[in-house]
Amino acid sequence: MPATPASTRSATPHSRPARQQSDGPPAASPPGAWSGPGFEQLRAQDPQIAEALLGESARQAAGLQLIAAENFTSPAVLAALGSPLANKYAEGYPGARHHGGCEMVDFAERTAIERAKALFGAEHANVQSHSGSSAVLAAYAALLRPGDSVLAMSLPHGGHLTHGSPANFSGRWFDFAGYGVDPDTGLLDYDRIRQLAIRRRPKAIVCGSISYPRHIDYAAFREIADEVGAYLIADAAHPIGLVAGGAAPNPVPYADVVCATTHKVLRGPRGGMILCGADLAERIDRAVFPFTQGGAQMHTVAAKAVAFGEAATPAFAEYAHRVTANARALAEALEGEGLTVTTGGTDTHLITADTAPVGLDARTARGRLAAAGIVLDTCALPCPADASVRRTGIRLGTAAVSTQGMGEAEMARVGALIGAALREDGAVRAATTELVRHFPPYPPHA
Ligand SMILES: *Cc1c(COP(=O)(O)O)cnc(C)c1O
Repeated sequence: MPATPASTRSATPHSRPARQQSDGPPAASPPGAWSGPGFEQLRAQDPQIAEALLGESARQAAGLQLIAAENFTSPAVLAALGSPLANKYAEGYPGARHHGGCEMVDFAERTAIERAKALFGAEHANVQSHSGSSAVLAAYAALLRPGDSVLAMSLPHGGHLTHGSPANFSGRWFDFAGYGVDPDTGLLDYDRIRQLAIRRRPKAIVCGSISYPRHIDYAAFREIADEVGAYLIADAAHPIGLVAGGAAPNPVPYADVVCATTHKVLRGPRGGMILCGADLAERIDRAVFPFTQGGAQMHTVAAKAVAFGEAATPAFAEYAHRVTANARALAEALEGEGLTVTTGGTDTHLITADTAPVGLDARTARGRLAAAGIVLDTCALPCPADASVRRTGIRLGTAAVSTQGMGEAEMARVGALIGAALREDGAVRAATTELVRHFPPYPPHA
């Protein structure tokens, strides 16, 4: 992995400029060092893709990575991902495969399942979903028929594409209605969600968001679902890592099905998982394979097991609590810089903020921040349902910078850098580089 201390980086062979090739990656990528297993062979064999890997690992190390969905996974997880388990076909489930030679991958998948069940207190875990979206697709496939009515957070208020977007299978195949947040407070209004549920009588209610910065009251959603006879699906893609570390409420005791990603705060490989009760286990498993997926990606399943093992440690609990403390500190710093933070703060790793008070639209703000080496997303900001203009803000998360070892003192500094970058202070790029130099995402020669 990025392996060389910053101070010696310029002496590494990786620091030479990228080759000038017409179909190569941008040649301006900063110098970096990456030396995972097999890398030297890749570099000898395919210098173009080697440059992309080097350039990307250097980019990750050289800036502040504040995209709320991203993290730095561990060298152990990366080792599992880059292993010969990638070669194995394994349709089906442990002990019931459609292929021979599955003894070792069965062991890896059983380990992942047992660890996930123990970590989240679930009766059943399916660890094969290729992504968060695939997990949601399988949950709908298990519980719904095409045309069924579903209630989920509306997209402008923070719903995911799989929560009824017309550009996504969900919006085309199901009849979605959207609930929102109170436009003044930015908070979920459970009374209004209940009224909407009583009117619509949905077959399922989805709770979960890509940008809601507060804890979700799963017990309140359970009550509403019970009152109207709906399934409750929790899409906990973002907070599931906080749940693992005891820093956010666990949806498992309340939801019929919990969908999640393994690569956000949870810090595992890119992928999805589904947790549910024993009663739905068979339906969920059949909805993943063979209904919506083919063979499982066994290198990823093994990497999920590694990540679940890491997430069960006291060190990860400390990490999860530092992630939320850092987010609170960063939210405060951003308010100090004149931005308006939605809901006035955060309970999680995630912050959304309006840049209009400092005279910038969100896209301009994102561009100025990118020029300063500060990488984040824009997102929709909650507004009244009848608003003629949609508002956009910025979305930030503290999962990655916390993995790098940053704490609340650094968050105050990051807030100040963001404020200065928005004022187009040209010195910020160098200050960003100086800050992250002390927090390499991977230890030297991991
Ligand atoms: C990230 C996310 C997903 C999708 O995950 P992918 O792995 O990108 O498919 C689904 N739902 C929510 C709420 C998310 O935040």
